[in-house]
Amino acid sequence: MYDIIIVGAGPAGLTAAIYARRAEKSVLVIEKDTFGGQITHSPRVENIPGFLEVSGNEFADKLIEQAMEQGAEIELDTVTGIGGEEGNYTVICGSKEYRARSVIVATGSRHRTLGIANEERYTGEGISYCAVCDGAFFRGKSVAVIGGGNSALQDAVMLSESCPKVYVVQNLEFLTGEKKLQKILAERENVEFIYNSVVKRIIADGSELRGIVIADSRGGGEMELRVDGVFVAIGQVPENEPFKAALKLNDYGYVVAGEGCVPEAAEDGTVPRGGIFVAGDCRTKSVRQVTTATADGAVAAIAACRFIDSLDRE
Ligand SMILES: Cc1cc2nc3c(=O)[nH]c(=O)nc-3n(C[C@H](O)[C@H](O)[C@H](O)COP(=O)(O)OP(=O)(O)OC[C@H]3O[C@@H](n4cnc5c(N)ncnc54)[C@H](O)[C@@H]3O)c2cc1C
Repeated sequence: MYDIIIVGAGPAGLTAAIYARRAEKSVLVIEKDTFGGQITHSPRVENIPGFLEVSGNEFADKLIEQAMEQGAEIELDTVTGIGGEEGNYTVICGSKEYRARSVIVATGSRHRTLGIANEERYTGEGISYCAVCDGAFFRGKSVAVIGGGNSALQDAVMLSESCPKVYVVQNLEFLTGEKKLQKILAERENVEFIYNSVVKRIIADGSELRGIVIADSRGGGEMELRVDGVFVAIGQVPENEPFKAALKLNDYGYVVAGEGCVPEAAEDGTVPRGGIFVAGDCRTKSVRQVTTATADGAVAAIAACRFIDSLDRE
């Protein structure tokens, strides 16, 4: 029986592990895929306080080292559900089960991808899913933003301030983002909208991305867009499927929880069992970045420690 099991070894989960270990709780972190989480996909990060510039992998390695140095145990496994009751939980990984008094869900989210050939290969080398993170690397270069919702339009506004040409490629015949953002972009001469179009292929020269081929979704022809960067903003997919029986998810699949990292009651009034907390990109929030994920990790760990201490006092 662990004091705390943390699901997900991204910045939120690993920060929670560091805080919980410093409070002398026994901690198991279960990660299904990449220790360090999404940030490992970014070759250059410039907005983590304390680092002028760091690769996502280097930052993740430091976080893992710090969590293990503090005594957190780490397992490579996929959590498929949570069972049990308040203060006595079962974290299910297929046929294997782990037990804990408290659970922190820190499963993050992943960006919806285009699903085209070589997309993964050029991620971080021309293809980005985060203009806030990577926009500065394309200053003075031509870029395409894929999508027409708020995220895509915000990305286009930001990029149009430093890029000579910004294409906004939308699969529908209209934009779905805020009118205000649409108006700002319509007034910018370096922004061009391309409607009813989907990305078909990447144009590359060895390791250099040179552009994309887009196709008219109504059956028209194909067209080449010569760009240095492609910012994909077609939504995010949270990874909360295994927890939908235990926690309230919103329409987009995020766990409904505020800054306290405590899951909200479900519509039918079912109150989540005490001792389950949620941290990082997997919960409802407005900014999904390393700093906000690590902040959640600290908040959730301290809440979990207090929960365990209250059990001990009973
Ligand atoms: C290309 C890219 C560049 C970025 N650049 C920046 C940047 O420059 N600055 C910045 O601040 N932010 C950046 N971000 C965003 C940042 O990476 C995220 O906000 C941050 O990683 C969120 O941390 P998290 O711990 O909440 O989730 P994640 O990092 O997503 O970690 C969650 C972990 O949980 C694991 N997991 C999921 N489901 C399960 C399960 N069922 N069982 C076990 N494990 C599970 C996942 O495999 C993952 O490792 C970038 C993101 C990307 C993709």
